[in-house]
Amino acid sequence: MFATFTAPSFGPVHNRPSSGRTCRCGIHHDQDDDALGTPLNPDAYDYDAAVLWNAHAGALWRRFSIALRREVAKRAGLSQRRLREHARVSFAKVAEYQKRGAVHFHAVIRIDGSTGGDSPPPPWATAELLTDAIRTATAKVRVDGPAVDDRTHTFTFGRQLDVRTIRSADFNDGQELTERAVAAYIAKYATKGAETATGALDRPLKFAAELAQLDISDHAHRLVRTAWTLGARKSLEHLRLRAWAHMLGFRGHFSTKSRRYSTTLGALRNARAEWRRVEAAAATANGRETETTYVLAHWVFAGTGLSSAEAWLAASLEPAPGTEGEPTRA
Ligand SMILES: [Zn+2]
Repeated sequence: MFATFTAPSFGPVHNRPSSGRTCRCGIHHDQDDDALGTPLNPDAYDYDAAVLWNAHAGALWRRFSIALRREVAKRAGLSQRRLREHARVSFAKVAEYQKRGAVHFHAVIRIDGSTGGDSPPPPWATAELLTDAIRTATAKVRVDGPAVDDRTHTFTFGRQLDVRTIRSADFNDGQELTERAVAAYIAKYATKGAETATGALDRPLKFAAELAQLDISDHAHRLVRTAWTLGARKSLEHLRLRAWAHMLGFRGHFSTKSRRYSTTLGALRNARAEWRRVEAAAATANGRETETTYVLAHWVFAGTGLSSAEAWLAASLEPAPGTEGEPTRA
């Protein structure tokens, strides 16, 4: 299954209702309107809860993954211990920021046979059973957060939950969500990583003074400031909100998978890059114009400039003036 787990509401925001009606502010927002996802009334928006949600989303996911195994076992008529002898429930998930700056999760959830990987799932492990277990577990899980100014916070997923069956490409009629499409989707987010954050920053803040100079939206600014302010509280020390203020309080990993999940996100990335390479090569062979940009998210420290020996080597490899030929194709 492919499921999207949303964050709860922290106050009404500007949106584009799927019904086609106008936003509550009376405007039909364009798809790329910067107002989308920002609060209708910023002073009434629950910024504390929004930041604390991001800080607890990872813990809520962990509870969900435990609860889901329990719900699957229950539907199979097995104890959790016995479940492991029959089936494995595995996950691959990515965290993504919604426009309003709240983290939500996309996950591929699968049931395999007892040895995981390629072992076939037991006959009772239907898409319907898994969907039902996902819905029940999602509605049940909660994490008790901290009390801030005598107000207690409890975190649950938002009411909107999208669960779709992933069909094997072998059975695809062109309409269904296929394994291939989901792998591409997950890989896209795995490679995009942290920079999908809503107007967020790419590095931790060191000083409160930096806040004033950030070139980000008012809404993102308030989220960062809220994280920074809450981060000063002794009782919230464990959340390390100042260190993660630039991520609006979220300190989890952007993509994680259970150990048993059959492939690694690195493998997905490589497969995607390889597919693009082959596609580009085929396009060239067909004489079509092609422009392919390789986007690789892995940065490796290669060194700091050239050593004197490398500099000599580099200089000696440069073509002599006037002999530059056609740029070589890799
Ligand atoms: Zn609006």
